[in-house]
Amino acid sequence: MKVYDAVVIGGGPAGMTAALYLLRSGVKTAMVEKLSPGGQVLMTSEIENYPGFPSGLQGWELADRFAAHLESYPLERINDEVRGIEFGTPVHTIKVGDEDIQARAIILATGSRYRKLGVPGEDRLVGRGVSYCALCDGNFFRERDVAVIGGGNSALEEALYLARLVNKIYLIHRREDFRGLLCYQEKCFSHEKIEVLRSTVVEEIVGHSSLESLALHDLNTGERKQLVVDGAFIFVGFEPIMDFVPETVTKDRNGVITDVEMRTNIPGVFAAGDIRSKMCRQVASAVGDGATAATAAFSYLEQLGQ
Ligand SMILES: Cc1cc2nc3c(=O)[nH]c(=O)nc-3n(C[C@H](O)[C@H](O)[C@H](O)COP(=O)(O)OP(=O)(O)OC[C@H]3O[C@@H](n4cnc5c(N)ncnc54)[C@H](O)[C@@H]3O)c2cc1C
Repeated sequence: MKVYDAVVIGGGPAGMTAALYLLRSGVKTAMVEKLSPGGQVLMTSEIENYPGFPSGLQGWELADRFAAHLESYPLERINDEVRGIEFGTPVHTIKVGDEDIQARAIILATGSRYRKLGVPGEDRLVGRGVSYCALCDGNFFRERDVAVIGGGNSALEEALYLARLVNKIYLIHRREDFRGLLCYQEKCFSHEKIEVLRSTVVEEIVGHSSLESLALHDLNTGERKQLVVDGAFIFVGFEPIMDFVPETVTKDRNGVITDVEMRTNIPGVFAAGDIRSKMCRQVASAVGDGATAATAAFSYLEQLGQ
C-alpha cells in the first residue's frame, strides 16, 4: 500500500492550493480528484471577484491556471473517488476506488454540491428542462424562455449569464429581498430580459417527457398560476460533500467543523474550502483555507518527526 506524507481529497481551488503549498514545503503529496481538477469553478461562467483579475475571467480559465501552477511539482494525481477513511495513529487509510492508500496527514477539500428544490417533478425532469448549471446547459435554451430560481449570488450571476443566450428570464425568489450582492441585484433588476417574481414559491415542476410549466404560488396575494417556460435553472444553495467522512469527525449540517488553522477534531486531519461549516463559500476563501490547511498540516508533520 502506498504511504504519503499528505493526501489532499478534492481538486478544486481549496485542494489545488493545499497541494501547491504542501509540495513547495517538500511534502510527499497525492491529490485525489474524481473528475477534472477545477471543482465548481468549471461550472461557473465568469468569475469577476477573484483578486488580480480586474476584468474577470472565465471559470475554466481560472481552473486551468490553478492546474498549470502545479505542473512543475512532483504531485501524485489519483483520478478516482474517495469512498471512506479509517483513522489510525499516526497513519490514516483512505479508500480510493478499489484500492487503499495511506497518509499521515489528510486535507478534506471535496467542496459542496447544489441543493435541490425538493418539489414534485424535479428529479424526473432533470436534463429535460431542469438544470443546476447555466454554463453546462444554457446553450440548449437559446432564444427560449427560462426560469432561474433562487435569491443568492449564484442565482443572480447565472441569470446574467443566461440573459446573453435566452429570450426571457423569470427570476423567481421565495422572499421579498434578495441575498446576492447589490451589484448583481442592480444588473438583474435593470436587465430588459429579466422579470423578477418576488415572494413566489415554485410548488411543482410540470411536464411529461420534458418541462412544460412551473406551478407558482404568490405568497403576497395567495394566487396560484402556471408559468410556461422551456427551462428551469435551480440555484437554491449548496450542501457540503462529506458522505465519505467518518462520523467521528465533528460536523454540523453546514459542513466539517475546524479551528482557524483548518484542524478538525481528528489529529492529522484538516478541512478546507466549501466542505467546511462557514459563511463565505467563494474561490478566494477556498484558496485561503487551502493555504492555511497545508501550513497547519506541514507543521503537524514536522511535530510527528516524519
Ligand atoms: C454556478 C456557480 C457560480 C459561482 N460563482 C463564483 C464566483 O463568481 N466567485 C467565487 O469566488 N466563487 C463562485 N462560486 C463558488 C466557488 O466556485 C466555490 O466556493 C469554490 O469552487 C469552492 O472550492 P472547493 O475547492 O472548496 O470545492 P469545489 O470547487 O467544490 O471542489 C471540490 C472538488 O472535490 C471533488 N470531489 C468531491 N467528492 C470527491 C470524492 N469523494 N473523491 C474525490 N474527489 C471528490 C469534486 O469533483 C471537486 O472537483 C460559484 C459556484 C457555482 C456553482
